[in-house]
Amino acid sequence: MYQTIQLIDKLEHTSRLTKEEWIALIEDRNDKTAQYLFERARYWQHKYFAKRIYTRGLIEFTNYCKNDCYYCGIRRSNRQASRYRLTREQILECCSSGYGLGFRTFVLQGGEDGWFTQEKLLELVRAIRKEYPDCALTLSLGERSKESYAELFHAGADRYLLRHETADDQHYRSLHPPELSAERRRQCLWHLKEIGYQTGTGFMVGSPGQTPEHLAEDMLFIRELEPHMVGIGPFVPHHETPFFQETGGTVELTLYMIGLLRVMLPALLLPATTALGTIDPLGREKGIQAGANVVMPNLSPTSVRKKYELYDNKICTGDEAAECRNCLNQRMKNIGYELVIDRGDYRSQIKEENHV
Ligand code: SAH
Repeated sequence: MYQTIQLIDKLEHTSRLTKEEWIALIEDRNDKTAQYLFERARYWQHKYFAKRIYTRGLIEFTNYCKNDCYYCGIRRSNRQASRYRLTREQILECCSSGYGLGFRTFVLQGGEDGWFTQEKLLELVRAIRKEYPDCALTLSLGERSKESYAELFHAGADRYLLRHETADDQHYRSLHPPELSAERRRQCLWHLKEIGYQTGTGFMVGSPGQTPEHLAEDMLFIRELEPHMVGIGPFVPHHETPFFQETGGTVELTLYMIGLLRVMLPALLLPATTALGTIDPLGREKGIQAGANVVMPNLSPTSVRKKYELYDNKICTGDEAAECRNCLNQRMKNIGYELVIDRGDYRSQIKEENHV
């Protein structure tokens, strides 16, 4: 335990650990060291963000996908998935109701759906940018060429979410079909940063075959990339995928990884994810108490909610956007935090002012 606490202190003071140190810090954790970690994580969370929680309105605009990731419920081989695409009008309607509810960031997320050509996407981005000049627009559309990312950026998208999923090449191959590679995924992230997007990456906790060494590699990659956001959540099996019989990730390890991320990069935007709320009724609250500072409720029309089923038992699939906002408002209040009406941009300058 002594060594683990020392490693947490070293991480806090230097922001870097070796791979061996990361492995030890992850393997040798226990309840006491986790409590110590969460205290340090809340110290930095409070220093940078006070008790303010940022919200992003998630619009799941298509569940068509050309990819076949072994863990994902909307993979192309899942013939049971009922496929949908929102129209431009429906998407703008989601933004409009979201704006009224206090959202100032919209996240367009979907499968890799060729029906939405570059032209259609550019038009959509321009339309949202024009109507909501005061809002941030985040895209989460998977892997694209650098040129495509750059055009979308210049059309008005300011942020992009693309989880690296796992930084270990071999582990990545065990989660994806041969045509996908970890290296290509990481290359996309470097492109996004070069273009100027506020960039989010992330990984699943407890995905099949994941070891502490893999998690150590994830932390080293994130330190190197220095993204603005990191989204992590437990792997949750989906009944129509090859991983239907695999064990899911745990709340305990997910919270621990959130705490480590907050202490490593104190200004990070860290969502308490829907997957975490799915495996524990108080998962998102616990995520905030472990150092997270963002929640991403759903703005998609209720008619399609159930269809964007990446994993089993996903929560909030029956609720209207307003209900989700109110529910989260109350949940955050219960633990002494508040949802704010703010774009919630990444502000690295706080780090330079306050970091000791
Ligand atoms: N097509 C986009 C959006 C992917 S869905 C892209 O490629 O980025 C968003 C995230 O959901 C994925 O990055 C993955 O980490 C997560 N996800 C998918 N299936 C999951 C599962 N079974 N359990 C937990 N998270 C899952």
